Amino acid sequence: NKVYDLIIIGGGPCGLACGIAAQKENLDYLIIEKGSLTESIRMYPRNMHFFSTTANIAIGDIPFAASGRKASRVEALQYYRAVSEYYALQTQLYTEVINVKKTNQLFEIHTSRNEPLQARHVVVATGYFGLPRQLNIPGENLPHVTHYYEEAFQYVHQKVVMVGGGNSAVEAALDLYHHGVDLTMVVRKDDFKRTAKYWLIPDLRNRIKEGKIKVKFYTEIEKIEQDWVWLRNHQTSTVEKYPANFVVLLIGYTPDGHFLQKIGLKLNERMVPEFDPNTFETNVPGLYVAGTVQCGIHTEKIFIENGRHHGTNIVQHIKSKVLVNK
Ligand code: FAD
Repeated sequence: NKVYDLIIIGGGPCGLACGIAAQKENLDYLIIEKGSLTESIRMYPRNMHFFSTTANIAIGDIPFAASGRKASRVEALQYYRAVSEYYALQTQLYTEVINVKKTNQLFEIHTSRNEPLQARHVVVATGYFGLPRQLNIPGENLPHVTHYYEEAFQYVHQKVVMVGGGNSAVEAALDLYHHGVDLTMVVRKDDFKRTAKYWLIPDLRNRIKEGKIKVKFYTEIEKIEQDWVWLRNHQTSTVEKYPANFVVLLIGYTPDGHFLQKIGLKLNERMVPEFDPNTFETNVPGLYVAGTVQCGIHTEKIFIENGRHHGTNIVQHIKSKVLVNK
């Protein structure tokens, strides 16, 4: 049976960077990804632009040339695809890792596709974008409800209720406004989140002042039905039946805590795994974490800019050990 030096779970920018680091050190590795290459970026809003400059999200010392200083989603997808081809990265796509078990010194990686694979080391680079936060309210799983915003065209001439006051909601709201969509934003607190891009907020407030975008602060959504939602206002303690042909829930995403615990990681109450800050090795020897999954629910703390370097530390640590059975 083949035994890999390293199996990397997740083909996002940080997983790919880890693969490049492994390849440069001649490790026998495989990147296993449950979706497409850089699936999370593929799931971003279609017209989204990165806030980072291209240089800060480049990997593998390959320059990232885009039409401006900040790349669009499509430019980033092209870039990571090209980098992956340049290095001929070893990937297996559309394969979900279901479990990782350690027996003696070897890991057994159970996937949705193969017989279990074997590896001496495993890197978890599973990010957070695959698991939307749930409101757990009736109707949340109806077909006209989504946790991902793609683009405005499907909502033209429709009434949209969007829940959320963070950056994703603010950006999507302005995009919907520019496409003439009838939008009502539902925000639990008294204002938008301070972490939203500060340069977009004045634009949004002006649209609200003009009455082009409606907003309901201090409000939560209680129930969703075809064409209607029920909204509860905390200040007035009133419930209102409100028209909504589509409901867009942009309330954030979290790492898959269930999966992380199943494979043996110790997590704190904020889903932050226990790991060595220099080597990124977790409580399970030989099992590492890279990229955004390192910061639990604080997903804003580690992103491509700072997560893309994790692979180098991990591979150095692996190289510093004697590779058993090689
Ligand atoms: P991800 O990119 O999320 O990759 C994880 C991968 O693991 C996914 O492809 C997923 O399908 C896969 N996976 C998960 N579970 C399994 C499993 N069990 N088996 C197999 N595969 C699995 N960051 C920046 O630095 N600059 C920016 O400008 C920027 N803009 C952003 C804009 C938006 C709209 C969003 C949502 C995020 C933005 N970010 C930005 C954050 C950035 O996208 C993430 O921090 C980054 O994707 C993290 O990379 P990662 O490799 O850790 O995780």
